Amino acid sequence: MKRVCVFCGSSSGKDPIYKENAERLGQILAQESIELVYGGGDVGLMGHISQAVMDGGGKVTGIIPKKLYEKVPHNKITELKVVKDMHERKKLMHELSQGFICLPGGIGSLEELFETLTWLQLGYHSKPVALINIKGYYSSILNQLTTMVEEGFLKDEHRANLLVARSSENIIEMMKEYRARYIDKWE
Ligand code: AMP
Repeated sequence: MKRVCVFCGSSSGKDPIYKENAERLGQILAQESIELVYGGGDVGLMGHISQAVMDGGGKVTGIIPKKLYEKVPHNKITELKVVKDMHERKKLMHELSQGFICLPGGIGSLEELFETLTWLQLGYHSKPVALINIKGYYSSILNQLTTMVEEGFLKDEHRANLLVARSSENIIEMMKEYRARYIDKWE
């Protein structure tokens, strides 16, 4: 994996454990020489992870729509790409990245995670998608996925596409070992 895209909160959350994990993931990416692709802002966990990658001597590409660029602070990163809109941003995030990680965040992070997971389910890509479930923050979402399987709205194999870790520590190893197995949604 040359580049990994991280979706995460534009806020830091209340518990410092979220910031610590964002920074730790940034350090790991820099150590592993994996470049960070992210939303481009210097806010919340987005700011913490991008700063940690830069401090660790790594490379960061931020991709931000023009409208947000004009409003949001951005730190000094390797490259900041200003694009037309959210659709162009996501397209570019996908083209540049060989894997995706979702740290704690709000509806923006969730939307990005589930879109990526949906594209994997439909066979539009075969890249690893991982969720870091710090302090059980996403446990209710994971329970909802189980309900979807139980109630017949999601295949077990598609739920299993989502890699889940409790902290930033082993996530990159899990992603490197991941081999997508395409299961047709309509079979
Ligand atoms: P949220 O989880 O709702 O805080 O939204 C975070 C996700 O949405 C990030 O992964 C970004 O891609 C995008 N996003 C939300 N707010 C901003 C912002 N102020 N600047 C840049 N990207 C943002």
